[in-house]
Amino acid sequence: MKLHDVKGPWIGGAIQAPHSANRVTLISPVTEQRLATAPDCDAADVAAAVRAARDALPAWAGLPSADRSGFLSELAARLEAADDLAELVTAENGSPITRSRSSNGLVPVRTYRYNACLAADLVDDEVRDWQGQQTIVHGAPVSVVAAIVPWNAPQVLISNKLGPALAAGNTVVLKPSPETSLDAIRLAELIADSGFPPGVVNFVTGGRATGEALVAHPGVDLVSFTGSTTAGRSIAAQCGQFLRPVILELGGKSAAVILEDADLDVFRAQLIATCVPNTGQVCYSSTRLLAPRSRYEEVIEATGDVLATAPLGDPSDPATAFGPLVSEAQRARVEGYIASGVTDGARLVLGGGRPAGLPVGYYVEPTLFADVDNNLRIAQEEIFGPVLAVIPYKTEDEAVRIANTSAYGLSGSVFTSDIGHGTEIARRIDSGAVNINGYRAAPNAPVGGHKASGLGQEGGPEGLLAYRKQTSISLPMSAG
Ligand code: NAD
Repeated sequence: MKLHDVKGPWIGGAIQAPHSANRVTLISPVTEQRLATAPDCDAADVAAAVRAARDALPAWAGLPSADRSGFLSELAARLEAADDLAELVTAENGSPITRSRSSNGLVPVRTYRYNACLAADLVDDEVRDWQGQQTIVHGAPVSVVAAIVPWNAPQVLISNKLGPALAAGNTVVLKPSPETSLDAIRLAELIADSGFPPGVVNFVTGGRATGEALVAHPGVDLVSFTGSTTAGRSIAAQCGQFLRPVILELGGKSAAVILEDADLDVFRAQLIATCVPNTGQVCYSSTRLLAPRSRYEEVIEATGDVLATAPLGDPSDPATAFGPLVSEAQRARVEGYIASGVTDGARLVLGGGRPAGLPVGYYVEPTLFADVDNNLRIAQEEIFGPVLAVIPYKTEDEAVRIANTSAYGLSGSVFTSDIGHGTEIARRIDSGAVNINGYRAAPNAPVGGHKASGLGQEGGPEGLLAYRKQTSISLPMSAG
């Protein structure tokens, strides 16, 4: 696949000459060679993008929401027909292609379609009656949205923001991660091909400073951020100064509670998608495996079998389950955590090093620790790599307590043969989403982190409402 440098930010419906002379370089996680470059946009580029979004706002917000629904449906159709996006993302971030086709294809298509349906049903005015007092609750878009996303599953994360923000009538300035600048600009082309008016969606590429300039811009009315908890806190502080709404989808350290009656064949089949998807680089991964004492060794053996036999290597091969990590820095971070697990006394069951036969590329062996104390760093901090920790428990109450003993509260899972009982356990887990017997997600379900995993929700009608503001217009009693 031939990759091209991004010449400039996408502003007002086309690539513009960048103000900044600086560029970010994308490095292939497979070959460690330069893939392409993109502008490292500065505050002047960001200001131009915010201006374009502001200029496009009145016409876009003024459209009947059924028309906005039509644009989103068209985008879904074009994304579905585009056969290059998943390959592009795999080239950029090393995501195994089978997974990339889902998270950068099927899932965002579904998200745009779902939000097209929400837009079709959106009403601007709702009349409420309370004992004869009538109030018109008038809804309107928040206005100009700044959306900032990470690299790990860029298209689905972008769709989680663009879908509801556009359905609700906002215009957007989006900043992708530098690692995944190319697929963002490819999406910009698809948006233009779908007929969206210029300026409704603008893209500024660049690193952290570009994101900071966007958050600091006074012309932004809402910030929707997905990324690390550290960056989320700093963005929230800045939004606090502006008293501006902020949506934060942050990190996690979720638990898989394996109950006594769990079917370990189901667990094996779901393990990678639920606990180490995308080579462990997914926020919702259930990386702490809580195993009952009675089945402790069985769980370790089942997990070790899956990790040891899952194909590791070239992410463009459809059979590959584990690819390289996104960057050298990410690999160094993951290796640091593996070293800390060993130093802190956890039992290294499998992996821990770099795979034989792959001297080039940012590969790390799938790694399994057992006898892990939940207080260890490898059990408390987000590793964002293919590293799992098995923690024993004696009673279900203890399992729930361990699952909830975390600064995070993003996701989690329960493995059981009794769905009703598993659902009861899920209700006791303090996080934004819990999956029974394996990861699943539907676009009509709101998902958002508790505790240090975030603020607000994405998905469902709740996700769209976050991008609306209300004015309550009270009518005189006689008007009714
Ligand atoms: P990151 O926070 O370093 O960067 C994310 C994005 O924010 C990038 O575009 C980056 O350039 C930008 N950025 C960084 N600091 C910024 C700042 N101070 N102001 C403005 N923009 C800033 O995160 P990452 O390492 O690229 O991504 C991995 C993290 O994302 C993990 O913690 C993961 O759990 C989280 N994540 C969360 C979800 C979710 O839905 N909760 C989904 C995917 C990833």
